[in-house]
Amino acid sequence: MAAPTVPSPRRKRLVLLGATGSIGRSTLRVIAAHPDHLELVGIAAHGNWQQLASIAAEFRVRQVGVFDERAAREARESGAFGPETVFHGGLDGLVSLATLAEADIVLVAVVGTTGLSPALAALAAGKDLALASKEILVLAGKFVMAAARASGASLRPVDSEHAAVWQCLQDHRGTEVRRIILTASGGAFRDWPVERLAEVTPADALKHPNWSMGPKITVDSATLANKGLELIEAQWLFNLRAEQCQAVLHSQSIAHCLVEFVDGTMLAQLSPPSMTFPIQRALLHPQVVPGVESPLGLDKVFSLDFRPVDESRFPLFRLAREVMQTGGTAPAIYNAANEVAVAAFLDQKLPFLAISSVVEHTLRDGSHFEPASLSEVLAVDTESREIARRMCNKLAR
Ligand code: NDP
Ligand code: MG
Repeated sequence: MAAPTVPSPRRKRLVLLGATGSIGRSTLRVIAAHPDHLELVGIAAHGNWQQLASIAAEFRVRQVGVFDERAAREARESGAFGPETVFHGGLDGLVSLATLAEADIVLVAVVGTTGLSPALAALAAGKDLALASKEILVLAGKFVMAAARASGASLRPVDSEHAAVWQCLQDHRGTEVRRIILTASGGAFRDWPVERLAEVTPADALKHPNWSMGPKITVDSATLANKGLELIEAQWLFNLRAEQCQAVLHSQSIAHCLVEFVDGTMLAQLSPPSMTFPIQRALLHPQVVPGVESPLGLDKVFSLDFRPVDESRFPLFRLAREVMQTGGTAPAIYNAANEVAVAAFLDQKLPFLAISSVVEHTLRDGSHFEPASLSEVLAVDTESREIARRMCNKLAR
């Protein structure tokens, strides 16, 4: 007797915001490897329409978002897109892409907090949300999580450490977890003597030892602000108290998290340092199918080391832990000031060590309270960016 045929599940239709970036490129590899599972139906970037045109052609995407007005005009007039292309411009365009009727899941991988309103719109429209842009949860975690609860849509972490925690927690209740420990590579300067940090250049900061990522997050890794942002991200995603979210240095970036349960046992999640693993988990959940890349090879000697974070070396990590404890608008102020300071550093207008001074000063002068609405948080974000810009000018090179 012939074996009954098992119908394959319908392909998930994906909108990818930030398609031309580092996460975007890894996502395209996952989609290309799994044409039976995933279909790309919408893409967006800030201004790189040339790359969007080649993605649209390769994946036959009709819905295209170009945020920047001039680039959007060039894209329309270029003739590089098919005649059936529908263009979406500006923030409204990102929102309309995030709520496309034909989309099942939206992956937000736009650097910074620009993806906040598209992410909220996607949830409100009942789309599942795969979230790479951690800054969104740091700015407005309370409101994003409330939107996810209200819609019943699922919010899936893409950040590798959080995807790892999510995987470890799959069969466990929240009350069974004592703490989660995110691993940190230590970034570009983990082995530099502290005295040399005063002279580092953007080019030095952009040389990450293990990961290939966009410039903002690579600088955040060098200051360990990235791990600080991730603690706050974890607090929201997994509904934990500040003291339950911790981090440890782990130079190989192979173990992405440790989850400790109340009985004292721990689970760790291991995979090579490539974002295709967490992206595939987030997009295909609950399906688990072969990955894009080779798994860890155990035929050669390798070791995993763990050591505590030295907070005197990484002031932005200490500040992130403090703002996580403080709560209210403190994480939003931290995030806004960090974004402004990192942009100034990348622009060669601010010394590396001044990034943490800008954040500390902005935290001192910013407005601290428990926000009752998203608009209150957004007002604090705008105000904090202003304070941080003034501080950057004071400390400019
Ligand atoms: P990149 O700098 O490599 O890419 C950023 C992407 O966002 C580009 O596609 C860019 O388009 C697009 N973009 C920027 N501004 C806008 C806008 N206003 N509207 C639409 N698109 C925009 O960043 P990453 O991929 O490294 O990071 C993206 C997010 O993912 C960040 O929040 C980061 O923290 C998070 N993340 C990244 C990881 C990584 O491995 N890279 C790991 C974990 C989290 P354009 O090319 O036109 O400028
Ligand atoms: Mg991470």
